[in-house]
Amino acid sequence: MSNLQFAELCVKRDSLTRNLPEGNEELQWVSNTAVLIYGEKDAVLVDTFITIEHNRMLLKWIKTFNRNLTYIYVTHGHGDHFFGIKQLKEAFPEAKAVATPGTVTACLKQGKLIESFWDQLFPNQIPEPQVFPEAIDAASFELEGHRLEIIEAGFTDTANTTALWVPDLELLAAGDVVYNGIHSYLAETTEQSRLEWIRTLDRLIDLNPKYVIAGHKVPENDNNHGILNETKQYLLDFIRLDHETDTVDDLYNAMLALYPSRVNPGSLWGSAKAAKA
Ligand SMILES: [Zn+2]
Repeated sequence: MSNLQFAELCVKRDSLTRNLPEGNEELQWVSNTAVLIYGEKDAVLVDTFITIEHNRMLLKWIKTFNRNLTYIYVTHGHGDHFFGIKQLKEAFPEAKAVATPGTVTACLKQGKLIESFWDQLFPNQIPEPQVFPEAIDAASFELEGHRLEIIEAGFTDTANTTALWVPDLELLAAGDVVYNGIHSYLAETTEQSRLEWIRTLDRLIDLNPKYVIAGHKVPENDNNHGILNETKQYLLDFIRLDHETDTVDDLYNAMLALYPSRVNPGSLWGSAKAAKA
């Protein structure tokens, strides 16, 4: 059997939440990560980017590996992770874009928000018409005989999320189940779903991965498994401070005081507003 390797491409982009209290301007950005897992001849991509330009960069980067792209695996149904499928399929027609049935449903829903949401934030930059992933009904698929396992993560930062586990690399391509140096997006969550997210993180900690690649990370940060615990701690702090505060501003400021250097405070502002709504 061939040896597997992996690489990541991380791009910085504008945050989705752009109306937030003043301050921390240097932290007002976010990133997306795409992961390429590759053997001798073939490769699997985990997640794509949002914009036409970033997906062009992604394509160029993949081509430098000189592998056949066999699968594009989408971890969950947020547009920032799958809008590149169209461009990738044009360049690699043999590649199958796949996701769990739950994620496919979420992607189709997201596809209805392009005009009202995504186009407003990234005018003329969203690839259209959208191409959606197909549902995969198996719990795993293969890359040159190596098993890639789909982990159902339930509701984390949205419904029906997953991570991809590569046992032979001890690699977890975690999608949005894990955040690295960036405020987690909690605007869609409830306290109940945040507790579900924590239980999922405990399951992933038990896997004891060597590498954990977050869908949103500070590009310079490494991929050590400690970020599983950091993501869990962030959720525990948010739950605690939500109970200890009454207003959106108080919750926002209390979290900022604990996490002053985290990137994308806009995401935290959205989380605080949703929690106090
Ligand atoms: Zn995301």
